[in-house]
Amino acid sequence: MNKDRLVNQFMDMVKIDSETGYERDMADYLLKTFKEMDIEATEDDTQEKTGYGAGNILVRLKGDASKAPVYFTVHMDTVAPGKGVKPSIDGDYIISDGTTILGADDKAGIAALIEAIYTIKESNMAHGDVEIVITVGEESGLVGAKAFDTSKLNSKFGYAIDSTGTVGTVVTTAPTQSRIVVDIHGKKAHAGVAPENGISAINIAARAISQMKLGRIDPETTANIGRFEGGTATNVVTDHVHLLAEARSLDSDKMEAQSAHMKETFENAAREMGGSADVSIEVMYAALNAPDDSEVVRTAVKAIENIDRTADLISLGGGSDGNVFAGAGIGTAILGLGYENIHTTEEKMPIEELVKITELVVEIIKVQNDKEVRA
Ligand SMILES: [Zn+2]
Repeated sequence: MNKDRLVNQFMDMVKIDSETGYERDMADYLLKTFKEMDIEATEDDTQEKTGYGAGNILVRLKGDASKAPVYFTVHMDTVAPGKGVKPSIDGDYIISDGTTILGADDKAGIAALIEAIYTIKESNMAHGDVEIVITVGEESGLVGAKAFDTSKLNSKFGYAIDSTGTVGTVVTTAPTQSRIVVDIHGKKAHAGVAPENGISAINIAARAISQMKLGRIDPETTANIGRFEGGTATNVVTDHVHLLAEARSLDSDKMEAQSAHMKETFENAAREMGGSADVSIEVMYAALNAPDDSEVVRTAVKAIENIDRTADLISLGGGSDGNVFAGAGIGTAILGLGYENIHTTEEKMPIEELVKITELVVEIIKVQNDKEVRA
């Protein structure tokens, strides 16, 4: 591993603007970089479908075909303000100038993968196939990953490199989430002259919500009404309100049951009061649930020990690209890479963690290669 090259690679990439939806320059840079490294990298055809700045990039490092492949995923988009990032080194950290984010989320992961490939090639390390998916649109609803055709992957398991926590952190569980859109319809009337002719959509929604289980449902499940809007003036019985809600659970059956409970409660209250409720439930992403004894977790733990760190298996409260791949049946865990204060202009990247995440990627590929030849 060449630490200076790694740091320079990272600094070069954060200077390329790639706010979500505007990934073109970053995608072109990556395609060019892998081409110069003589590594197969192709952009998929999802750009038309997503309307984002580019398609996802699939990178294949060819290795010993008798060994089982492993995959990694990272994302090339960043949150705003991410234009004109001016990185600099401040002691043990790489920082922005304070007017923008840094973009370590997730370009530190991309830099680690590129340096890991250099390291493997230069040391002639034995390895099986390594597949890398670099997505667009992660920050706005996992758009690229959702559009990606996972049948292109031969790997049965792998890692998203995109979590807070120092290197050694492994996210093994993250919830599935639904987005619930509710429109309650009542009947408009003059509130002073003839309120009895009206049906208040506000009152229907209020009754439903008061009867609903919300907040912490059980240790694995949560639910929330996040938005409630409607109505005009005090003298009008409101005929329409619009609500946005969500349910999350580490257990998809529980998430579905909670979402169904919320839908039914709105529908029942509307029916009882003479109105109607249109409730749609969309599953935003699947749960990520890698058991401690699964291959994806065991391989990570062994590799973490080999780089002299301690594995810390944790649960997250939100979803990421890893959830999408897990939902497609590819065993996935999310690796912490030590970035700090992400999604803020205080974002910074400890150089030591950048080095350690690179070592971890190399080590995972090594541990995977050292396993028995696949059946
Ligand atoms: Zn991220």
